[in-house]
Amino acid sequence: MKVLAFSLLALAETVLGGDRDAPKAAVGIYIEFDHPSTDAELSLLESEVRSILAPLGFDLRWRDMEAAGHEAWADLALVTFRGHCDLASIPPKFDPVAPSLGETHLVDGRIQPYAEIECDRIGALVKPQLALVRRQDRERLLQRAIARVVAHELYHIFVGTAAHKSTGVGKAEFTASDMLSDRFQFAPAQAHALIQTSAADVLQTSRYGR
Ligand SMILES: [Zn+2]
Repeated sequence: MKVLAFSLLALAETVLGGDRDAPKAAVGIYIEFDHPSTDAELSLLESEVRSILAPLGFDLRWRDMEAAGHEAWADLALVTFRGHCDLASIPPKFDPVAPSLGETHLVDGRIQPYAEIECDRIGALVKPQLALVRRQDRERLLQRAIARVVAHELYHIFVGTAAHKSTGVGKAEFTASDMLSDRFQFAPAQAHALIQTSAADVLQTSRYGR
């Protein structure tokens, strides 16, 4: 469901807007929550996802799922947040039966632009470590952990691959320390694939713009 349609606004924003040294692909991230996050939690989440993907050329614009279909993008993803994504509602136990922290839909072997993020499981995974850090840091660290799962699923969607790597944001399984470590980036090969994708999106938008 890639949107190849062109709009003047999208071209202006994509090619002319923002950092003029490095044109970025404007990408729509449509979100919905089982249990709505507060504005403060959401803004932490957005900024943590941005800090991972902006250096790779992605200019992410977050929108409510209900607004889907009204704007044209170089690329887009629809992300549903399951469970509770806030510190106060972390469940006590990690569910060992269904341990996936996030999923991207695959149909006939092709990656679809739909991801689901399992906030309860992420919260339960990092909860023991969060208890060891300063109270005022916990919410940001939880949102950063959720952001890492979001970035992982967006990697599947934007690069169009179900493959995993052995290290970095794109690896198959995250540990609690992956989720909370100060540095957690895509491995070089994945970063390269993402940069190529974002650059191709900019060119594609320009081509359709003529
Ligand atoms: Zn994955």
